[in-house]
Amino acid sequence: MTPKKQVDGFSEKPTKRGRPRIAQYTTVWGRAANYKLMLSEKWPNLGNALMRCLQEADVIDVFEVHAQPYARQFVPHLASDILELIRSAKFPQRANARIKYMAESLAGRPSVTLRTSREVCAKLRAIEGAKSPYKIIRKEFYIVCQCGYKGPGEYNACPKCHAQISFINEILADMGVFQGDDEWLRNVRNVRRTSPF
Ligand SMILES: [Zn+2]
Repeated sequence: MTPKKQVDGFSEKPTKRGRPRIAQYTTVWGRAANYKLMLSEKWPNLGNALMRCLQEADVIDVFEVHAQPYARQFVPHLASDILELIRSAKFPQRANARIKYMAESLAGRPSVTLRTSREVCAKLRAIEGAKSPYKIIRKEFYIVCQCGYKGPGEYNACPKCHAQISFINEILADMGVFQGDDEWLRNVRNVRRTSPF
């Protein structure tokens, strides 16, 4: 695998259901946030013990002893990545920097490399940083209604006949954010079976 290909790791695996790249970025960013919370809570004991690890088995032991109930989020599947991170010359010195570095490196595994995962997080951080301090408190769609009305919706309905806009697609998209594709697809199928829409 060439370095160029690793950086662009997302395109190696085509998205069967056409999930756009930005959604994959958001998934990595969300997972990094979760990892940060879990690592921060456990770091006082976990951090020191981790730095003494020499092999994957040590990493697994340390997480199982010091990172409950979160150990299964990290080991055994991320043990070799964690070992690589803590042995790297780039691994930061301060606790907060270490937590951030580890969380953002691991968040994209195994789909992308540790480095690409950090780059994705840096990109998302830049996007968040550039956001307006104001929040949108109301959004309306441009709608084409069977009653003949074309134009902006009003409170999620047609202003002429009051037909409601269905949000099923947005709900399904939200469900996919923190889940693997297979689990996501299973959920979509369940929702289709039981959906009141
Ligand atoms: Zn209408």
